[in-house]
Amino acid sequence: MNAKDLPTSALMNITSRPNLVFMEGSGSWLVDNHGKRYLDFVQGWAVNALGHSPKIITEALATQSVKLITPSPAFYNEPMLRLSNGLVMKSCFQQVFFTNSGAEANEGAIKLARKWGQKNKGGAYEIITTVGGFHGRTIATMSASGKPGWDVMFAPQVPGFPKAEFNNLASVEALITDKTVALMLEPVQGEGGVNCATPEFMTGLRALADKHKLLLICDEVQTGMGRLGTLFGYQHFGVEPDIMTLGKGIGGGVPLGALLAKSHACVFEHGDQGGTYNGNPLMCAVGAAVLAEISKPEFLAHVRAMGQHLSESLTALSAELGLGLERGIGLLRALDLKQEIGAKVVELARDAIDIGSGAGLLLNSPRPALLRFMPALNLSKAEIDQMIVGTRMAIVAARKHLT
Ligand SMILES: *Cc1c(COP(=O)(O)O)cnc(C)c1O
Repeated sequence: MNAKDLPTSALMNITSRPNLVFMEGSGSWLVDNHGKRYLDFVQGWAVNALGHSPKIITEALATQSVKLITPSPAFYNEPMLRLSNGLVMKSCFQQVFFTNSGAEANEGAIKLARKWGQKNKGGAYEIITTVGGFHGRTIATMSASGKPGWDVMFAPQVPGFPKAEFNNLASVEALITDKTVALMLEPVQGEGGVNCATPEFMTGLRALADKHKLLLICDEVQTGMGRLGTLFGYQHFGVEPDIMTLGKGIGGGVPLGALLAKSHACVFEHGDQGGTYNGNPLMCAVGAAVLAEISKPEFLAHVRAMGQHLSESLTALSAELGLGLERGIGLLRALDLKQEIGAKVVELARDAIDIGSGAGLLLNSPRPALLRFMPALNLSKAEIDQMIVGTRMAIVAARKHLT
């Protein structure tokens, strides 16, 4: 196939994309339509937990696709049962509802909380979320998100999402009224710039939820599935939510999400929730294979060791180049560049620098002065070292462009 013969104008223009087409990938590496290789520290936006096209996933897809692709969500299928039992066994939750994306899992969490409020709290429906939080791109999850500008983008918003300040317990408590049904947050704000909840904030939220009879909802679409070095982010903090959502890593690259809840919060009745592809065997077979791999103690130990190495390497780079602090947990990390050169660093790392044999480097800059690192969880120490070399070159080159 020659990607050059295919015009891009047939696609809705929803974002600015670089002028290249990715053709194949393997592990931490991608190859474009010119045959150029890239070391990938974006990984489909923290999605490819096992890297590009890992055998574990291609085999699960191949095996399941010749057996059964979908019997309808109104019937049980074997992978759906396997994955739900696996998730329940390895978490603090008792039941699961599968979705096709993270936003859809969060929509489900919002519906579940509102239903719980109808049954248990006299119709309370407000869910306190956080400034800088990100919960997806449906109308309700955009309303729940605390991204600047999103409150008016597709106005009117869905009501019922007062925003508290992240890591400010008093600002959460000040918003609690008899209309409040839940508190919802990411243990580490991903899109917001890798802002980590403090342990006191997480335990404080749990205590507030208990005191006021509220549900605590953790959006673990980005932090779940090993990203923080524990299978789920809440385990890092030792705080159990009532409801958790998963996405991204659980499918390892295929569209899959999940809504999990403790028994007392599982209040859906027949007809409340569903969806054509929800719990389809093809995606659930992948999810089960990914879960089996990621939940191995040695796999999670590797994530923690690589997270430590990445943290130390970024700290050393920062000291050498006079940058700001690095931060994060496990393999979700960020580096403060102190100058608004993030977009330029990303562009130069991809297009201009050579990290060896002509290869480029894929980085992400969620804010003008910030780089975010979300590599495959099974990457090697050598790949981290190679990324650091490339990032150093790109930062030095971007600073030259400034002057
Ligand atoms: C990516 C993300 C979502 C949205 O997931 P989609 O699969 O894109 O709908 C929701 N919450 C968090 C924390 C995310 O990082």
